[in-house]
Amino acid sequence: MTILPHVVVGGLIGSYTNSVSLAIAGGVASHLVLDFIPHYDHPIGKDHLRSFAAFYWWGSNIISVGVLWFLYGVGIPIFVGALSAALVDIENLVCMFTGYGLKFHRTGFWHRKTTPLRGFMHETAIVLVGLVWLYLRLTG
Ligand SMILES: [Zn+2]
Repeated sequence: MTILPHVVVGGLIGSYTNSVSLAIAGGVASHLVLDFIPHYDHPIGKDHLRSFAAFYWWGSNIISVGVLWFLYGVGIPIFVGALSAALVDIENLVCMFTGYGLKFHRTGFWHRKTTPLRGFMHETAIVLVGLVWLYLRLTG
C-alpha cells in the first residue's frame, strides 16, 4: 500500500485524540488494519515508470508527503497520528535490506495483496472517504 492512505487515516485517528502517545498508538494500529485490505505494493528497483502501477505508486507516495506537510500545520496529534502510521513501513525497508524484522510486510494473512488496479481502487476509496471525514471533522 502506498503511504497516502496510511497518512490520511492516521491523521483522522490523531484528530480524535488529544495526546501524542494515543495518536502514535492509533496511527500504528491503523497501519496494520489498512494493510489487511488487499493492496498493491510496487517492487522497489523495478521501475517501469510508464506503467499505470508505477505512476500510481510514485504519484501517491509523493502526494502523501504534501498531505503530511499540510497536516503538520493543522495540529500536532493529527500530524503525529499520520506520521506514525506512515513510519510503520520502515519495518518493510529494514526487512528488505537486512533480513531482520517482524516480517509483517511479507504477504500473509495480515498483509494482503492484489493487482495494481484493484489496489488503486481500494486505496482511492480509503483516501477519499478519509479526506472527506477529516475535512468534516476539522470544519464542522
Ligand atoms: Zn505497510
